[in-house]
Amino acid sequence: MSYKKNRFHIEGVPSEKIAKKFGTPTYCYSYKKLRENIINFKKYFKSFRPMICFSVKSNSNVNLLKEIKKFGLGADVVSLGEIMKAQKAGINVNKIVFSGVGKTTKEINYAINKNIFLINAESQSEIIEIERIAKSQNKVVNIGIRLNPDTNPRTLKKISTGKKENKFGVDEKTFIKLVDYIKRSDFINLKCLSVHIGSQILNHKPYEKMLKVLDRVIKKSKYQFEYIDLGGGMGIPYEKKLKKLDYNKYNFAINKFLKAHKSKIIFEPGRSIIGNTGFLISKIIFIKDTKTKKFIIIDAGMNDFMRPALYNAKHNIVPSVKKNIFSKIKYEFVGPICETTDKFSSFKKFQKLNEKDIVVICDVGAYGVSLSSNYNVRPKPLELLIKGSKILVIKRREKLEDII
Ligand SMILES: *Cc1c(COP(=O)(O)O)cnc(C)c1O
Repeated sequence: MSYKKNRFHIEGVPSEKIAKKFGTPTYCYSYKKLRENIINFKKYFKSFRPMICFSVKSNSNVNLLKEIKKFGLGADVVSLGEIMKAQKAGINVNKIVFSGVGKTTKEINYAINKNIFLINAESQSEIIEIERIAKSQNKVVNIGIRLNPDTNPRTLKKISTGKKENKFGVDEKTFIKLVDYIKRSDFINLKCLSVHIGSQILNHKPYEKMLKVLDRVIKKSKYQFEYIDLGGGMGIPYEKKLKKLDYNKYNFAINKFLKAHKSKIIFEPGRSIIGNTGFLISKIIFIKDTKTKKFIIIDAGMNDFMRPALYNAKHNIVPSVKKNIFSKIKYEFVGPICETTDKFSSFKKFQKLNEKDIVVICDVGAYGVSLSSNYNVRPKPLELLIKGSKILVIKRREKLEDII
């Protein structure tokens, strides 16, 4: 992912060439980067060999899930559809964990029927429902209880999940009460304590705080958990000025925690595995001048890539062909959608661009296509995977006929 002879390459392929051959907007993933991310993730935590369940909501492309599965990862899912996609990718049910605050009867029924590894329950009502369904199928179901540790993850407000005002998990008091309830149940086996405090976390301190809360709650519960599911949330540096998460420090804190608690660890990473593998290649339709800035109107919109509109997320944008002529006026990259929030990044200094030029939005592998929609009756983009010398179509471009 670098410039060679002034052309932006994704692995060995120039982004302009992809645009010419496959059209735009197009998502393009790098297999090499994906492989590297998974290997590194395992390395960071190799001392305790965690079970790693890829968070399918971050990217649910079945062909990518198949590649991820080959490295032995399981799946963290939040809906029936995601369970089915994980299964379609060949991921064994004994590596699937199911989270979410609003699992329906149909979803719980399916999960229990297929014997998935773990259901992480998020409320008392859900536990009662799981027990009822388990009883009707005459099964003992393995569950986790998701604790809301009331820890500030110090990330974007809209992707915080572990503070007391967030809908996720149960508070400490309820947690202890539920542990006692499950101890007396014939149909539920309490296997796990789970947490997930938020996403795009770049500072290890919230994780340290979260582990302290876990330590306290586990001691209070007087229960030996076979598994502790620490969720995901590991952030990536979307902007140059951001620092990487210090995995050594997080690993150190977990090892310390494990000295007091003999449990196995589960992780549910999404973004840290897939985020920086994806690029969105887009073409400039028009450039519109105003007194204070130029609008660079590209053919990818918030329906294709929603993070900036939804969370105010910042993503780097790079030209497919580098030139050394710079514009003196601010550039604002926007999409064609009829919404004011349909804008990507702004730059005070950017190289001079022309209509029909190709640009690339970086780090769109996580929460990119999985958050895309048909808003404005726009077909969903093509997805490509570059693997070795091959460019594989891993999802065809949706046709207008499909959606009209
Ligand atoms: C979204 C989510 C994850 C993955 O989060 P990332 O920030 O992508 O690593 C993991 N666990 C649960 C329960 C989630 O909701």
